[in-house]
Amino acid sequence: MYRIGNGYDVHALAHKLPLWICGVQIEHTKGCIAHSDGDAPLHALCDALLGALALGDIGKHFPDTSAEFKGIDSKLLLGRVYALITGAGYTLVNADITITLERPKIAPHIEQMRATVASVLNCPPDFISVKATTSEKLGFVGREEGVEAYAVVLLKKLA
Ligand code: MG
Repeated sequence: MYRIGNGYDVHALAHKLPLWICGVQIEHTKGCIAHSDGDAPLHALCDALLGALALGDIGKHFPDTSAEFKGIDSKLLLGRVYALITGAGYTLVNADITITLERPKIAPHIEQMRATVASVLNCPPDFISVKATTSEKLGFVGREEGVEAYAVVLLKKLA
């Protein structure tokens, strides 16, 4: 029994904020405006996991009106989401994440991101794909006003 889920997230960028991408803090002049740490790819991944089991979305589980989640490390949110998945008797087959960001370069951090996500989901890094692209200077990503992320997951029901 397999279930597929997809997730999408955007965060606006502003000067002098920390930039968190896939659980890794990256040196940059801008970071994400958010109630949490603003890690858009991890939020997209949470939504993909929740979507696979039709459990709603990240905003339903972790409302941005709640003081509990202010500034929270999104790895903690991901861990809590995955506990719902395993609690329902499912396990991750694989996840594929795409990050759209004009600057800085993500490539040097990809392996650390895969290892970080894998450690939260308690799986081998080769279950986790992280890809990045610019938007060729087009749109809000191209103007360096925001970061965009997509995630797809496949889950398998444990016997
Ligand atoms: Mg978000």
